[in-house]
Amino acid sequence: MEIKAIRGFNDILPDEIGKWQFVEETVREVFEGFGFDEIRIPILEKTELFIRGIGEATDIVEKEMYTFTDKGGSSLTLRPEATASMARAYLEHKLFTFDPVAKLYCIGPMFRYERPQKGRYRQFYQIDAEVFGVANPVVDAEVILMLIHFLRQVGLEKLELQINSLGCRECRPRYREELRAFLSKKSFQLCEDCQRRLQANPLRIFDCKVQSCQETIVDAPKVSDFICKECDHHFNRVKEHLSMAGLEYVLNPKMVRGLDYYTRTAFEVVSYDLGAQNAVTGGGRYDNLFQEIGGRDIPGIGFAIGMERLISLLPKNKGLKRPLDLFIAVQGKDGKQDAFRIAHQLHLERIRAEFDYEEKSLKSQMRRADKLNARYVLILGEEELKKGRAILRNMANQSQEEIPLQELVQILGRKILRD
Ligand code: AMP
Repeated sequence: MEIKAIRGFNDILPDEIGKWQFVEETVREVFEGFGFDEIRIPILEKTELFIRGIGEATDIVEKEMYTFTDKGGSSLTLRPEATASMARAYLEHKLFTFDPVAKLYCIGPMFRYERPQKGRYRQFYQIDAEVFGVANPVVDAEVILMLIHFLRQVGLEKLELQINSLGCRECRPRYREELRAFLSKKSFQLCEDCQRRLQANPLRIFDCKVQSCQETIVDAPKVSDFICKECDHHFNRVKEHLSMAGLEYVLNPKMVRGLDYYTRTAFEVVSYDLGAQNAVTGGGRYDNLFQEIGGRDIPGIGFAIGMERLISLLPKNKGLKRPLDLFIAVQGKDGKQDAFRIAHQLHLERIRAEFDYEEKSLKSQMRRADKLNARYVLILGEEELKKGRAILRNMANQSQEEIPLQELVQILGRKILRD
């Protein structure tokens, strides 16, 4: 029986790969311009890292982790997100000894055991950016500005930036109690999951998609009414700096973000490009994460962009598949070796060239060149070859000319650049 891929795990095929490469190149250009460096972290970590880092009462830790015991008896987990691993690496390698401020990014697959559907997979890719070691609100604004600039660079328009403050260790517990008290009176309207969340982590109820839960929280107390003076001051400075940079934002007091570790600034970017609402990315500040994973008291802020969702929103003209530059068609037997030699010479010059490995009629070779969307075809005819010449055909306008083979690389180079 034919073996198929696991449900929720996707192949990214050559036809789409141009978009992925375009996004990844733009990440490197934009993020590195903002002073960020790439970090690569393992796909597997000790389960404990995510339990402590993300929080026990979250959907991810409760039901979405790919956890298994390895042959040595250790409990390991495929990373469901990158922040906890990046923080672990920063601590483990004492990156703070060089400079307390670390601006890091990484791109790679994450794994969550969620119900697969369009835009939701079990292996999906994220672009993560994190700043460790800065508590100052100016950096919150800087991170958000980089995110928006990046999204515009890849061609996304009609973006809406939503921000909120989630308070801190001092003020959030009081809010959590108020919210719990409010929702307890209406608990019969909540879904089964939210009944449980009500005890463990009532803020998560804001994220629930069930209609009756959404209706129940409409009049719920807002975290913004409970934040302490310091959090309020922090949030005001973030807003000031966003405005200073001319960036518009919308306050969304119901946006709480799914993970436990967020404190103070939280943000999401919604794109109206497809007409419907689409959360492309989200992030926020997490000043307690480092303590949770057993480290020092180090503040952090960052975001994660879902690659699949971002790619589905890209304008059609971005990241197109690279066409075949040249197909070498051979007339007669002797031309095969010339085709091989010329193709190799072109490959060294990074010109995409193909030829038929098997002997085929000229007609069938031309058909293949057409199917492969070749921009040019080089026809190696016996008579011309004797003179060191060949026919170069432009497939877009069907014009053709005889050229000296010695000048092929230069001629093609000029044409490919010009078109
Ligand atoms: P989160 O880490 O949950 O804050 O998610 C950040 C971004 O990752 C989201 O805005 C989505 O674009 C993307 N994302 C999260 N979970 C999935 C998933 N299961 N499949 C595809 N993309 C996802």
